Amino acid sequence: MRIPFVWILILLIPCAAFAQPRAKKEKKPIATELNTPSRRAKNVILLIGDGMGLTQISAGLYNNNNALSLEKFRSTGLQKNYASDDLITDSAAAGTAIACGVKTKVGAIGVGKDNKPAKSLMEEAEARGMATGIVVTSSLVDATPSAFVAHVPSRDQKEDIAKSYLELDIDFLVGGGRKYFSQRQSDARDLARELEEKGYVVSDYTESEIPKVTLDLKKNFAFFTAEEDPGKFQDSRSYLLPASRLGAVFLKSHNSKGFFLMVEGSQIDWGGRANDASYVVTELLEFDRVIGSLLEFAIEDGETLIIVTADHETGGLAINPGSQMNNLLTEFNTNAHTGVMVPVFAYGPGAELFSGMYDNTEINRRIRKALGWE
Ligand code: ZN
Ligand code: MG
Repeated sequence: MRIPFVWILILLIPCAAFAQPRAKKEKKPIATELNTPSRRAKNVILLIGDGMGLTQISAGLYNNNNALSLEKFRSTGLQKNYASDDLITDSAAAGTAIACGVKTKVGAIGVGKDNKPAKSLMEEAEARGMATGIVVTSSLVDATPSAFVAHVPSRDQKEDIAKSYLELDIDFLVGGGRKYFSQRQSDARDLARELEEKGYVVSDYTESEIPKVTLDLKKNFAFFTAEEDPGKFQDSRSYLLPASRLGAVFLKSHNSKGFFLMVEGSQIDWGGRANDASYVVTELLEFDRVIGSLLEFAIEDGETLIIVTADHETGGLAINPGSQMNNLLTEFNTNAHTGVMVPVFAYGPGAELFSGMYDNTEINRRIRKALGWE
């Protein structure tokens, strides 16, 4: 049967008219708002393994009879660490993202991509009357700790960064780089003496060792572990564990308003840059012991949120076929950083905020959330 053309038109028009007004079913967006944790964290210990990607952790694990303290954490996540101007980040931009919550350019310290200063967690904790601390195995003016303290366009401005320590009031400081404080090229200031004049107990590696120092709980404490960069763990550097533990205990009793402590295993990165697997593994295993000790502190304390993460991976490390437990065939792909995501581990009040996959700037926001700051 042939239907006249005009009938086809008449039949089609109402169909189109009906189809039009039907409301589109709205897709529900995935909830991005974070739940407020049931318990507020009073203290935060943030541990950053510089250059500590998943293969660095795996290499440590499988060189240590398949055991790490990191396994005790129940909340884990992954963070995307790209910089604002480069997919491959550096310690300055990644440190700034964590410390200040902004994506910035490679090399920038505590400033946004517009070079405007961004407030760090350390500064905000100070402003809120909390005690604060930094313990690192690099110099105190290296990129990672600097991101928590200074606001300069370049990580190379080490003497400027040192001056920032005088402007803040960090209660517990342990790391290298004494020469940037006391043997300065840009001026004749002695910043170590100025810290003393400010009321700090200042000591250094020429006078004492960390486990032997006597602390005055009423005074701030600064200890320089080297003139420039501290040595390697495998060359007998051993202060990270006692200094970190001392830092947590000191800060807890120094001030009743809670504390923020940042501990960096700085040299996992340096092992990667040197493409030296045993350097990476020894630094990683030392850092893991520190993690275990601070985790014990947090479990006992009950009010401490502890977060372990990295700024980026270094070296493009691989564990190759043919590897066996405690006998790994490792291979590096580069002397530089890579763009792979890095893990986040959390324990304590607010730890659940750190599961999932998110930008590194979220670590900042989620710490603030856990502390009840937003
Ligand atoms: Zn780094
Ligand atoms: Mg670093």
